[in-house]
Amino acid sequence: MDFQLTEELLGLQQTVRRLAQDKIKPRAREIDTTGAYPQDLFDEFKKADLLGLCIPEEYGGSGAGIMGLTLTIEEVTKYSNVLGLMLLLTRLPTGPIMIAGTEEQKQRYLPGIAKGTHRAAFCLSEPGAGSDVAGMQTRAAEDRDVKGGYILNGTKCWISGGMQADWFVVFAKTGDPSSRDHTQICSFIVEADSPGVTRPRVDRKMGVKGIDTTEIVLDDVKVGPSQVIGGGFALVMQSLNAMRPIVAARGLGLAEGALMYATEYVKNRPAFGKTIAEFQGIQWEIAKCATEIEAARLLTYRAAWLADQGKFTKEYVPMLSMAKYYASEVAVKASGLAVQLLGAAGYMEDHPTELYYRDARQLTIVEGTSQVQLGLIGKGVLGHDLWWD
Ligand SMILES: Cc1cc2nc3c(=O)[nH]c(=O)nc-3n(C[C@H](O)[C@H](O)[C@H](O)COP(=O)(O)OP(=O)(O)OC[C@H]3O[C@@H](n4cnc5c(N)ncnc54)[C@H](O)[C@@H]3O)c2cc1C
Repeated sequence: MDFQLTEELLGLQQTVRRLAQDKIKPRAREIDTTGAYPQDLFDEFKKADLLGLCIPEEYGGSGAGIMGLTLTIEEVTKYSNVLGLMLLLTRLPTGPIMIAGTEEQKQRYLPGIAKGTHRAAFCLSEPGAGSDVAGMQTRAAEDRDVKGGYILNGTKCWISGGMQADWFVVFAKTGDPSSRDHTQICSFIVEADSPGVTRPRVDRKMGVKGIDTTEIVLDDVKVGPSQVIGGGFALVMQSLNAMRPIVAARGLGLAEGALMYATEYVKNRPAFGKTIAEFQGIQWEIAKCATEIEAARLLTYRAAWLADQGKFTKEYVPMLSMAKYYASEVAVKASGLAVQLLGAAGYMEDHPTELYYRDARQLTIVEGTSQVQLGLIGKGVLGHDLWWD
């Protein structure tokens, strides 16, 4: 067993830490206030070659894997959950292609993401089907005019980065939408400028402002056979399983950023003839939170290590889901504590604590809510995928 990061990963961590401190930290508040997409920071990521971390070298990436992306997102999210999301979006929609796509699809769609010439989004959720993926109503009917082609109809919602995306991975049912037959769920690559694709609505949301979530309507959208990934429900789940450490990294980084900020504050805040930090009650809160952050870090790194070895099939679900569940809950807890430790100041926009708190709330909902993760972990223990004997 080795708890040490490799020289390469340590180097990556240091480089990103500096970039995050110099370029991202000073911008976080303004991005939240304006809600404008931070294109200049996308360009910084592009310049620093951080957009292809999880993409293999043969497709234009740097091959740093899920571990490399996890460490990078952790550093970035210490200061901005939006920029963590920007990096996450290099993996979420490319995942199904890397797992189940054809060689042609990989050659065509992965290099653009790695080089930052293209962006993509992942379209799973629908107004009537979030946690209940099999309840999706988007229909993929066979195109009678094109052998192996399909025509898509349906509405996807809350799609992160939907406005900036050049292409989408869309999940739809090839049979009766009311059927819950898992084999009927199929994934497709849809170009954003395809006839019939519209983005009629951008959500007004609580946090993570700067990367919009969008409704995407598919009205008789034709996809050719070269855009069919396939995969069934298993591909949905494997794609999401491999993402657990990456979402967890956002929670981890956010928790670290919030606790560091609050710790520095209480060391300087006078009260009752001392500083707030000198009260044991405060020290214990910091200690408990720091312990939870380190526990989240261990779960997250292990999950990243598993995912990089292709261990994201059903039997690894409990370990992967634990990372996402725990790190996102710790983010909410740590940012809530940070608000509390600053008192009124923590509630005001003069400090980043209220922003950390609003941004953290997204993490226990996206890509499988905390309740869904607990369900998956529970099933894994009941079925002995996780067992200690
Ligand atoms: C900011 C943001 C960005 C997003 N980005 C994307 C994106 O890029 N692509 C995409 O496809 N989706 C995206 N989503 C959607 C997200 O994945 C869904 O919100 C999530 O899957 C939960 O679905 P829901 O919101 O419909 O909640 P519901 O499924 O309606 O659940 C509501 C509540 O019931 C609980 N619940 C549901 N089922 C169970 C159960 N079996 N047992 C116990 N409790 C249960 C849930 O935990 C939750 O608390 C995004 C959401 C947000 C907020």
